[in-house]
Amino acid sequence: MTSTAKKTKKWSPQDASDFYGLERWGAGYFSVGEKGDIVISPSGTGDGPQVSLPEVVKGILDRGLNMPVLLRIENILGSQIKQLHETFAEAIKELNYNGSYKGVFPIKVNQQEQVVEAIAQFGSQFDHGLEAGSKPELIAAISILENRNACLICNGYKDEEFIDLGLYATKMGLQCFFVIEIPSELDLILERAALIGVRPKLGLRIKLVAKAEGKWAESGGDGSVFGLNLSQIIHIVDRLKEEDKLDCLELLHYHIGSQIPNIRDIRAGVMEACRIYEELVKEGAAMGYLDLGGGLAVDYDGSRTNEPCSRNYSLDEYCYDIVETIATVLDKTGTTHPTIITESGRAIVAYYSVLLFNVLDVSSYVPQPIPKELPDTSNNLLENLFMTYNMVSPKDIQECYNDTLFYRDQAKQLFKHGQINIRERALAEDLFRHILIKISKAAEKLKHVPRVIQDINEALSDVYYGNFSVFQSLPDVWAIDQLFPVIPIHRLDEEPSRPAIIADITCDSDGKIALFPDANGPKSTIMLHDLKENEEYYLGVFLVGAYQETLGDLHNLFGDTNVVSIHINDNGTFEFDRELEGDSVEDILSYVEYDVKAIKQRIKRLAEDSIHKGFIKVKDRKVILRMFDEGLRGYTYFERE
Ligand SMILES: *Cc1c(COP(=O)(O)O)cnc(C)c1O
Repeated sequence: MTSTAKKTKKWSPQDASDFYGLERWGAGYFSVGEKGDIVISPSGTGDGPQVSLPEVVKGILDRGLNMPVLLRIENILGSQIKQLHETFAEAIKELNYNGSYKGVFPIKVNQQEQVVEAIAQFGSQFDHGLEAGSKPELIAAISILENRNACLICNGYKDEEFIDLGLYATKMGLQCFFVIEIPSELDLILERAALIGVRPKLGLRIKLVAKAEGKWAESGGDGSVFGLNLSQIIHIVDRLKEEDKLDCLELLHYHIGSQIPNIRDIRAGVMEACRIYEELVKEGAAMGYLDLGGGLAVDYDGSRTNEPCSRNYSLDEYCYDIVETIATVLDKTGTTHPTIITESGRAIVAYYSVLLFNVLDVSSYVPQPIPKELPDTSNNLLENLFMTYNMVSPKDIQECYNDTLFYRDQAKQLFKHGQINIRERALAEDLFRHILIKISKAAEKLKHVPRVIQDINEALSDVYYGNFSVFQSLPDVWAIDQLFPVIPIHRLDEEPSRPAIIADITCDSDGKIALFPDANGPKSTIMLHDLKENEEYYLGVFLVGAYQETLGDLHNLFGDTNVVSIHINDNGTFEFDRELEGDSVEDILSYVEYDVKAIKQRIKRLAEDSIHKGFIKVKDRKVILRMFDEGLRGYTYFERE
């Protein structure tokens, strides 16, 4: 970055696009416009309307909502659902597959009502269904899924109440499948179904030997906690035979993990499942559906590799490989091609949400100028650092850096033992920083940048304080070092000049983003622009629609952010469709069981007592109480007038 940027040519929006990798991870939805703004193209195909993201931010602020905001672009959700169905349809047609494709959205990936509702709405034309893994999810799904041709897949452990809910859904004509996870569920389902008077649609969840790579892989084979082994499957088939209910067994399901980066693992999984599928057909089960679970990955870092935050396949390859593998395996035994179901969650919703926040402040360490004369000390630490500074040249970068690190450690030791004082130590730190700056500049002249430059840039990086909470809005950044593209949403016609890391406002040392996607592997800093006076600087974290919302917590009592869903019209205008105000301070305190009335009473008492003791005047009490009142009603994040 520092090195390759040619200072002679003016920085263009195209340079920004290359630099931040929008063409790699943006999937056609996000690009850099001519004015240096991020532009949203909700069709993802290059045609159709476009909207400037900073314009959307302006629209949000004009409506009186503050940053941070989670922005959902509804058309993108529609485009993702459409692409998935159309690509499967093409593969099915081209490969002469005799079944069809049905998608279901696993509610756990984003349970927000607005999201599930939007999926049911946009997905209806494709009979896109829902997957529920718990009672609350099932109740939500039944209430939202109006389309009786769409599938409703019930995974997870089921008690009597769960089963009854599903059976009544079946009775009302919904395509509700019970996927059996443990053998004991079967008898309960059969018993309740007989009582309620409905024929249950059954599926089996199998444990595969096939495993997936990546951070989100289920432990496959015998180690998996989910699903049935072959002996349990045989037992269930025999039970169904006894009850003369093999016609109820229609579906085979497996899930080897989310975000499967390697297409080879996807193929191995389908192949293994197909063998079991055809054996179940041979046993006399009705079958008809093969449910591959989730796993379709999102290329968060845009590297198109089998790294954990990427994928080494396109949607085309995913669909064609699946359809072709199923046909190839089943054709050998002449087994009828099943309806293919996938439970893609991440790939459906990741693209459509962007977390937007303003930068509140930047802390950078600008060293004092080097003094003309170094103070006299009993050792030559400062002289050595000064000499190193003078020696820095493009040829000796690594050596200078090693020396500097050595002297810096020495400074720490000398200070600890009282051999240098605080001013001398501060001067050593300043010299250390001057050396790093000089090295970083020297490296700009090199064709091949040495690896240590990454460390040096990290050491030189500024901290940009963003108005958001990692724990609330990007839990996977904190928990599993997930990568998300983070970039400025404007000023992309200016060359970014500051290596930075991004801290949130939780005051927690873990509350930061310090890993950024890059074409050459993750980087620990990102280049950002200098802040301008009286002008907000906005950053966007992209591809955050999956898994981030409900896993988030109230660390430091920062609550839900404002949420805005927009719909982009064909003429390039946009409207606010759905809007949710984030938590107020009052909301948050009551979540952790504070009684807001009691808080107010106690503040009153404190103020009254302070009057009594002469700390404040009577009129101060009114100001103080009003301030607390407003504070309780306000947003938990930083509000700027
Ligand atoms: C989590 C989960 C999914 C969703 O996986 P994605 O990789 O997000 O598509 C699907 N099915 C089951 C059973 C799951 O547990």
